[in-house]
Amino acid sequence: MGDIGGIIMNLQPITFPGVENKRPMLIAGPCSAETEGQVLATARELAEKGVKIFRAGIWKPRTKPGGFEGIGSEGLSWLKRVKEETGMFVGTEVATERHVFEALKYGVDLVWIGARTTANPFAVQEIADALRGSDIPVLIKNPVNPDLELWVGAFERLYNAGITKLGAIHRGFSSADKKIYRNQPQWHLPIELKRRYPDMPMFCDPSHIGGKREFIAPLSQQAMDLNFEGLIIESHCNPDCAWSDKDQQVTPEVLDQIIKGLHIRDTNQTTEDLFDLRRQIDELDNELLELLAKRMRVSQEIGQYKKEHEMTVLQTSRYDDILTKRIAQAKGLGMDAEFMKVILEAIHEESIRKQMEILNK
Ligand code: PEP
Ligand code: MN
Repeated sequence: MGDIGGIIMNLQPITFPGVENKRPMLIAGPCSAETEGQVLATARELAEKGVKIFRAGIWKPRTKPGGFEGIGSEGLSWLKRVKEETGMFVGTEVATERHVFEALKYGVDLVWIGARTTANPFAVQEIADALRGSDIPVLIKNPVNPDLELWVGAFERLYNAGITKLGAIHRGFSSADKKIYRNQPQWHLPIELKRRYPDMPMFCDPSHIGGKREFIAPLSQQAMDLNFEGLIIESHCNPDCAWSDKDQQVTPEVLDQIIKGLHIRDTNQTTEDLFDLRRQIDELDNELLELLAKRMRVSQEIGQYKKEHEMTVLQTSRYDDILTKRIAQAKGLGMDAEFMKVILEAIHEESIRKQMEILNK
């Protein structure tokens, strides 16, 4: 159950008969179903490695037309064969009402909503309406843009349609400046989602965050360290020849190595030992808050002075001076410059806002 200041959601756990309830719950399979042979070969190898939940994209949202846009409904019969032959559960991405009806008709066990679709409330509502009355688990990827409320809104639409087995997939957020990752992780967003909905199972998609094979292991480890429940990883019998996302797919063999290499920390351990340290943190936070409030009061006094002396609120050189000095000071104290800059900017923004209020009173 979680409180979001919006609706309260009573979520049901996502479980599959015969699938052990341990971290990570692993969903693996190719980015796209390409041919029956590729789907079955990949599925057999994954099943041999103990994977229980198979993924494959049937309809692919591509940035530009002309690329491989997915095999379509035909591929659903291949997923059915995967189920029959390997006993794995199967999942695919749905983006329209028709996709939902087709997927349900072929007995798909789980569906997910892709990042581009989550960003579109009309599409999410259409999917929610189409799923009404079914009780399959639905995983919702974060929208491409870092908008938590849009992500939450998608969960609410599904929940209002009676879907209670909901889970989240963190697949990173697109950004204009290309950095090392294909999609920036911005972990604070899934962390905030989990804070609001503690019962929401969280999956990480290191393939789409990283965009490259070598990032899958470290990103999966980070997700496990952040107590994510599951991982959804792209795996292909012959990644170099994949029709989509080839740089980020690994063979079932490599996937198995990655999973075996993960260090899964025990979440059931008592937190008694942490009691003292946490009390220190509580006290320090109190002090920080009091100091911050004091700083705001002083800044308001300055605001009053500026008003009385017809001065502008923003005094750029002073702000610049504060930033430079404090960041150097922070570095000397072993703190990260970028981190300090974010904090100082937030404090400054709030001071300016308050001073503007005074000026306009
Ligand atoms: C996918 O999972 O293959 C996919 C298209 O992902 P995303 O929606 O995260 O881009
Ligand atoms: Mn993909």
